[in-house]
Amino acid sequence: MTENTEKHEFQAEVGRLLDIVVHALYSQKEIFLRELISNAADACDKLRYAAVTTPDLAPSKFAIHLVADIPARTLTVSDNGIGMSRAEIVDNLGTIARSGTKAFLEQMSGDAKKDMNLIGQFGVGFYSAFMVADKVEVISRKAGEADAWRWVSDGKSAYTIEPAKKNIAGTDIILHLKEDEGEFTEQDKLKAIVTAYSDHIPIPIYFGEDEAEKLNRAAAVWMRAKSEITAEEYKEFYHHVAHAYDEPSLTVHWRAEGKLEYTGLLFVPTQKPHDLFDPRRQHRVKLYVKRVFITEAAEGLLPPYLRFLKGVIDSEDLPLNVSREMLQNNPVLTLMKKGITKRVLSELQKLSDNIEEYAKFWANFGAVLKEGLYDDYDHREELLKLFRTYSTKEKELVTLADYVARMPAGQDAIYYITGEDSAALARSPQLEGFRARDIEVLLLSDAIDDFWVGAIGSYQGKTFKSATRGDSNLDKIKKVEMPAENQPTSDKLQALIKSLKDIYGDQVKDVKTSIRLTDSPVCLVAGEGEMDMHLEKLLRQNKALGLGQGFSPGRILEINPSHSLINKMADMAGGEQMADLAWLLLDQARLLEGETLADPLAFSQRLTRLSLKAVA
Ligand code: ADP
Ligand code: MG
Repeated sequence: MTENTEKHEFQAEVGRLLDIVVHALYSQKEIFLRELISNAADACDKLRYAAVTTPDLAPSKFAIHLVADIPARTLTVSDNGIGMSRAEIVDNLGTIARSGTKAFLEQMSGDAKKDMNLIGQFGVGFYSAFMVADKVEVISRKAGEADAWRWVSDGKSAYTIEPAKKNIAGTDIILHLKEDEGEFTEQDKLKAIVTAYSDHIPIPIYFGEDEAEKLNRAAAVWMRAKSEITAEEYKEFYHHVAHAYDEPSLTVHWRAEGKLEYTGLLFVPTQKPHDLFDPRRQHRVKLYVKRVFITEAAEGLLPPYLRFLKGVIDSEDLPLNVSREMLQNNPVLTLMKKGITKRVLSELQKLSDNIEEYAKFWANFGAVLKEGLYDDYDHREELLKLFRTYSTKEKELVTLADYVARMPAGQDAIYYITGEDSAALARSPQLEGFRARDIEVLLLSDAIDDFWVGAIGSYQGKTFKSATRGDSNLDKIKKVEMPAENQPTSDKLQALIKSLKDIYGDQVKDVKTSIRLTDSPVCLVAGEGEMDMHLEKLLRQNKALGLGQGFSPGRILEINPSHSLINKMADMAGGEQMADLAWLLLDQARLLEGETLADPLAFSQRLTRLSLKAVA
């Protein structure tokens, strides 16, 4: 320590993470090397890209060296990549900048041991060094800068940082190995770990300070022949490129030749990224030009609805000195995007033959893919084939083609209902009449559903029609007679409807008898030309269209003339009890729509009054 040494505490989460890593991941501790090599390779990629515009920055050759000192029991992982400035060291190694790690900590609720296998799915990056070392030194010099810095920590609660000397740009990570971790200085051991986890790293990894002993193959995995790559190698590359630790659920590796030449190696994760619907979320596909890393998440390389993909696209056509700015609206990129989209959609189509696997994919990413139905006109047909949904007919997911093929004679629309959750939707009173007539209704439970259905309008000439809007014409498809003895006379029914309308005033647009209901007394529907109720609710929640918080007066209350409550009410001659019942019915219908009540106090007073009568 010198007078220039500064001591800093770790951010609280870092301390927790360090603790978990050191204690819980013990059985897989060798993955620390994978993590450090992965970071070293990323650093070389970044410098190689920076050197496109500033050639002086790059070394003549990029390399990673593993240097062991057996007597001192240290292992140094050295790279000549981009390096870190002082501020970058503090930010990257003292705080948890990675959102994935934050999510990991959130999931590590309570008992850490119980959730141990979770760690493997997230990867813990740099901090994994503390599994094998009781002290870690990082000496780094940023390319283009003269100063170097030394960061030292025992991985407990604090680290120090001070000026250091370093001749070339890059980073040395010096692990002071724990007493019983001496094996990580042995060449054979290191070779075995590199072969298992880091063989695909496209930068040579040497044992020792010279270039006599190369430990990895150092060829870009995506350039190798498919037949020569094992599933394990694909998986390890996925872990490196995606900074993820789950299994890829689909691997797409292909070479495009002809007008455009490029290679793609893309992965669909098994785990749903926690930020999939964060508006800032971008795809995680890295763009390379002739093996040189250009940028992460090039805008315009993939359509937004494929943002769950991770991997690499390596172009032969773009110039090596392409800058990120030049990529914007670049015609080569636009053509690649078309090709990539087509390829991925056709691979998904193949995956869909495996019903079980595809159901898992759909559960994770279906809601994202549906965005394409809304805004990618060119691929609508393919996307419609990939679409799946639950319906009132089957336990498993159904396709639109299944639905149309099953439609009974006389049905000319595709009926659907939108809401938050398909199980709740299936219980909607509005569907009773459909069930009674054996008419299938699609249960659409993603926020995007209201929008793509509106944008597409029809499928195979059949119009999409909301089950909660307008006259449902159900009797045209199949007539269901309701038992007449339970129904009030037509005069009494008309009188009841009139008094209900008087009671509700402008709270509903209309009161009508229903052919949609068989069991429930009432339900709300939207008028034929009106906005669908769930869509309106969504827009209101998002304060769109200037819709206020109140209830839409556009709703129609449908009453079930065969329900005994309606029948009894038709016999009542008005009065307070009649009004109480009327309001309770309306509030009940609103609650079923997931609305909050305008006046919960009045609701509970009415309920109490009526309950008292019931127990009296
Ligand atoms: P991740 O690699 O997923 O970002 P890590 O914990 O492995 O997470 O690393 C944290 C950050 O520290 C990296 O994103 C990078 O900015 C920086 N870093 C780590 N090792 C190096 C290195 N050898 N050279 C330059 N930067 C590094
Ligand atoms: Mg890393």
